[in-house]
Amino acid sequence: MSTSTRQPRVVVVGAGFGGLRAIQALKNAPVQIIVVDRRNHHTFQPLLYQVATASLSPADIAKPIRSILRGQDNVRAVLMTEALSVDPTEQILHTDAGPIPYDYLVLATGARHSYFGRDDWEPYAPGLKTLEDALEIRRRVLSAFEEAERTEDDTERDRLLTFVVIGGGPTGVELAGALGEISRYTLAREFDRIDPTWARIFLFEAAPRILPSFPESLARKATTYLNQVGVQVRTDTFVTEVDDAGVVAGDRRFEAATVLWAAGVAASGIGKTMDVELDRAGRILVQPDLSIATYPNIFVVGDLAVLDGPDGKPYPGVAQVAMQQGRLAGANIRRRTAGQPAQAFHYQDKGNLATIGRNRAIADIRGFRLAGFGAWLVWLWIHIFFLIGFQNRLRVAFQWAWSYFRFDRGARLITSTGYDRTKEIV
Ligand SMILES: Cc1cc2nc3c(=O)[nH]c(=O)nc-3n(C[C@H](O)[C@H](O)[C@H](O)COP(=O)(O)OP(=O)(O)OC[C@H]3O[C@@H](n4cnc5c(N)ncnc54)[C@H](O)[C@@H]3O)c2cc1C
Repeated sequence: MSTSTRQPRVVVVGAGFGGLRAIQALKNAPVQIIVVDRRNHHTFQPLLYQVATASLSPADIAKPIRSILRGQDNVRAVLMTEALSVDPTEQILHTDAGPIPYDYLVLATGARHSYFGRDDWEPYAPGLKTLEDALEIRRRVLSAFEEAERTEDDTERDRLLTFVVIGGGPTGVELAGALGEISRYTLAREFDRIDPTWARIFLFEAAPRILPSFPESLARKATTYLNQVGVQVRTDTFVTEVDDAGVVAGDRRFEAATVLWAAGVAASGIGKTMDVELDRAGRILVQPDLSIATYPNIFVVGDLAVLDGPDGKPYPGVAQVAMQQGRLAGANIRRRTAGQPAQAFHYQDKGNLATIGRNRAIADIRGFRLAGFGAWLVWLWIHIFFLIGFQNRLRVAFQWAWSYFRFDRGARLITSTGYDRTKEIV
């Protein structure tokens, strides 16, 4: 007589930084894993702005989820489908492809842009979260230079050559710096009727300074570097209107053909489909072991989770937190299935980095502060190291070396993206 019992089923929703690490932490565990993601690829989001600004191609920073998990036998299915809601009482995940029962659920669906109640701004000011977003931004930026070359109208040319980035966090700073570099160096000698260095780039930040997660001295350095590539940084400046022709910021109107949003994020909407406690950004409150108090077989990690650190502040929405939480959630499921107690999350902060333009960065690594070329080398090494896939690392290292020595950006193609956010449900 067979004594075999069914292995517990772990459903992981989202194969971003957190979800992937949870799956990998369950390698060889006696469980069956089902992976659900609306996309077929994992995206290395910290380098999205390089795709948006034509330095890298989409395939350099993304990899099919199937191929990443190919060697893991207990992954029984990878389903490209939208997770719609969770029924925690019946232990069912509802998806576009039908219901999926689970014994353990890992929610790692991350965050998306938030326009602070002004969703009508989104068509005029796209944010940067996915490869589709990056390609749309690339299309708009490159098209603006092409249209400026064509137009006979001086006022329209000024508008086309005005770029606005809203939000002075790391994403806004990196985007603005790359735009400065494109106009000052990459495109500088490629047009006949316009001079791309005429481009005006504004970075608007509502707070008194940019980069609030960095020490003030490094934020000041970053402002200097931005100024050097032609970016005008305006702090204490609220954007109160965005439309198809520009923005109102502070008490002035700026006519700008390209406006980019880097000002706010909110958690993915899946938390709202359950009767669980959420914070104002829609993140799910979790226990120190990363499970939900009322549903201990549901773990939440990364940008979707909120948990206070020892200083009483929530852990930040960064890749390191998501990866470490994913690893712990996987390990805790393994412990639970073996009848052992789960462990609490302890974050190892490995530092904070942001890059500006071609060869400058700022780094705050456990109190050790660095700015300039040295910080950029650290940034370079870390990003190549953490990229998923040897082939991607090689390609990106080559691209960066090429653009460093040649001031070139190889991915300057204007393509249509089929950009349609309405298909994203939660
Ligand atoms: C432009 C940009 C730059 C960044 N730069 C840095 C940086 O330099 N350093 C750093 O540490 N962090 C950076 N971050 C933050 C970091 O990328 C996030 O903190 C991290 O990705 C969070 O990981 P996650 O697993 O929670 O979610 P994600 O990595 O966002 O993964 C979520 C996954 O869930 C899937 N998904 C979402 N909703 C559904 C659904 N309903 N159904 C099915 N699948 C779904 C998505 O397709 C995605 O694969 C950056 C983020 C962005 C957007």
